[in-house]
Amino acid sequence: MSNKPKNNVMPENWYDALPRAQYASLLKVESADPWFSVYQIRNNIFAIYEDKHFQEVISYLVIGSNKALLIDTGLGIGDIHKVVTSLYDGEITVAHTHTHFDHIGGDYSFKESYVLNNEIAFKRLRRGLDYEEVKSNVEDGCNSEPYPDGFDKENYCIKPANKIFTFEEGFTFDLGNMKLEVLETPGHSPDSVMFADHENKILFTGDTFYPATLYAHINHNDGSNSDFQRYHNTIKKIASAYCDYTLLTSHNEPLRCGIELIKVLKAFDEIASGSDKYILDENNLKKYQFEDFAIITS
Ligand SMILES: [Zn+2]
Repeated sequence: MSNKPKNNVMPENWYDALPRAQYASLLKVESADPWFSVYQIRNNIFAIYEDKHFQEVISYLVIGSNKALLIDTGLGIGDIHKVVTSLYDGEITVAHTHTHFDHIGGDYSFKESYVLNNEIAFKRLRRGLDYEEVKSNVEDGCNSEPYPDGFDKENYCIKPANKIFTFEEGFTFDLGNMKLEVLETPGHSPDSVMFADHENKILFTGDTFYPATLYAHINHNDGSNSDFQRYHNTIKKIASAYCDYTLLTSHNEPLRCGIELIKVLKAFDEIASGSDKYILDENNLKKYQFEDFAIITS
């Protein structure tokens, strides 16, 4: 999720950053729903990017020889089911990097969803989120182009998922010629995970790392809070182990080099050691600015 001014979540003039430079070098493919822009990252990996909304969420379709994995389902504004079934006509399993609202919006349109074995995550998928909890994301200015026909922003909500299954650290999604292992990476949220394809050295990082402001401060009334110390431990765990992987992130731009995790670790180390190089942002939170990203703590 992103930061604030007037409605507490949306940055001012967010669309000025668009189109982001990296997309010019990626292969854009047809999207069955124009709300999403679809880019082919590898032969079998598609980034499904919601570039018309300030959250700029990216979900991924990973296609194996036997079945496909859909990593997150986005904001629930467009029809992601239509998009992915037009790209792949076999079995598609949904799995989550975490259950913040902007990654679970399309679950209702799939038969099954997989998520970390965490009570809050399970409950959120089962219950969904009502209008009051997500309305700040459909205020005026949140979208840069009209919403899709049929989307009713006055009744925006996250609908419940259907059948929910849970996984633990080490669980592997076997797609046939491709395997994705779950790494538990709490901190941004208690239910955050990454998915690692060791053979091709690809790591889907969710919201634990993306090229923008990282959130180590979020508080939810359901207890799904960020935790700086756990976040720091997560970065320690993955930084050196995955620094030679290709990272695929969940907001703004998909591709990053694993070496950036080393920079993120240095940044967390610096903050943990009491750095005073922060500014207080408009919400009175500490914002530490680094070269390619920032970190907000409470
Ligand atoms: Zn997010």
